[in-house]
Amino acid sequence: MSKSLSLEKLANFCKTRGFIYPSSEIYGGLSGIYDYGHYGYLLKENIKNAWIRNMINERDDVYLLDSAIFMHPTTWVASGHVATFDDPMVDCKDCKHRYRADHLLAEFGVEIDDKATTDEINQKLDELRTNNKLFCPNCKSKNLTQARRFSLMVKSNLGCTVDSISDDELTYLRPETCGGIYLQFKNVVDTLHAKLPFGIAQVGKAFRNEIVARQFIYRTREFEQMEMQYFLHPSEMEFKYNEWKEYRWKWYLEYGINETSLKWYKHEKLAHYASDAYDIKYNFASLGEFAEVEGIHARGNWDLSQHTKYSGMTLDYYDQEIKERYIPHILETSAGLGRFVMMFIDNAYTEEIVNDDTRIVLKLDKRLSPIKFAVLPLFKKPDLQNVAKEIYHHIKKYYIAEYDDSGSIGKRYRRQDEIGTPYCITVDYQTLEDNKVTIRDRDSMEQIRIKIDDLDTKCEALVQNNR
Ligand code: ATP
Repeated sequence: MSKSLSLEKLANFCKTRGFIYPSSEIYGGLSGIYDYGHYGYLLKENIKNAWIRNMINERDDVYLLDSAIFMHPTTWVASGHVATFDDPMVDCKDCKHRYRADHLLAEFGVEIDDKATTDEINQKLDELRTNNKLFCPNCKSKNLTQARRFSLMVKSNLGCTVDSISDDELTYLRPETCGGIYLQFKNVVDTLHAKLPFGIAQVGKAFRNEIVARQFIYRTREFEQMEMQYFLHPSEMEFKYNEWKEYRWKWYLEYGINETSLKWYKHEKLAHYASDAYDIKYNFASLGEFAEVEGIHARGNWDLSQHTKYSGMTLDYYDQEIKERYIPHILETSAGLGRFVMMFIDNAYTEEIVNDDTRIVLKLDKRLSPIKFAVLPLFKKPDLQNVAKEIYHHIKKYYIAEYDDSGSIGKRYRRQDEIGTPYCITVDYQTLEDNKVTIRDRDSMEQIRIKIDDLDTKCEALVQNNR
């Protein structure tokens, strides 16, 4: 078994197998934007559902929300995004290549926290310059600018009837989903009678004008986030923070990510309101490094306090038991759905030698597989096709399934292996005599023979076994 997986190979695999396509490809593409094909869509939905199960089915203190992408312009002034949601940027004056300054420093072995100030970054860049060690990785020129801030906010002209929009009226495409959660905190307490501590979770699109988006779907300008904001009394923060860290960590293991492929990254430099911040990093074979997939942050009561200040509506909570009124503190878990899609494919992608041939198999957790069953007649003959189609139409009522009768059976098995289908059901000539089919397991490639009449029970058991 081997794992030679470059970023280019992964992107090519995802495109040719119908998972992910570059957006607007016929017009030359749009940098940092991707479309999900049939299998990518299904995989993404399964990951999203696995996350929602973790938030909702497996606990009883989290509620769902689906807030709008557009929000009142003051939202992003209050949250600090308009003033400070930016990244440090360095340009090469010769080849015009652009770099995120902290990533450029990392290329020269200088680690700097992503909360570092522009001055701190420029100091590090100057140290490299003085030692004649700073150059453009693309064209090797030493003609690089100082770091300057580049806003990540994506502006819109929503509702605008005049040519110029004042800053106060400017609407943005939301840069993160949690803004909507803060603004609906009161409604959730009032309408669902939610008692602290509780969380609000949502999955939705977010937009960021990333300086560089060259890492396939790891960093895109339009992406989906899965965020949960947990509201609590400050005295509970330490305990709940550790509990949530452990809870989220276990989710990765449950879905087949090996513990050795994960690590915690502790932010040493915290935002002034935060008391703790950790990221979960996954070791991407395709990136050749550990990279962030989720952040778990203790945010104090900054968010609700800011929205209280700017809206004039007090976003507090009265605790009947302790007879105390206070602005709740927030613990956040924040993950990227696209990054999870990339992580699960990166993790599942396997090349094995079988009978002197390379077999590519996507060893996804079976709950995440886009297609659960493929029904295949052994040959393209009407009597076999008819039975196989009948089975397929029946199974399709309950599971996402696929029918395929093109090419040799070996090639069809390989195709299903590549998209991670856990089970292939094959109809052969013997089926016409004994009413039995074979079920082939993706990972072991073992086949069992069972009666068509027992298929329903068997399929259910197979899928439940992996629930
Ligand atoms: P990074 O340091 O990689 O830019 P971040 O720390 O800015 O990420 P957060 O603002 O904490 O990210 O967002 C939470 C999560 O949203 C990240 O852990 C990541 O999974 C996802 N995410 C953030 N930006 C992007 C992006 N441009 N493309 C895809 N996913 C993203």
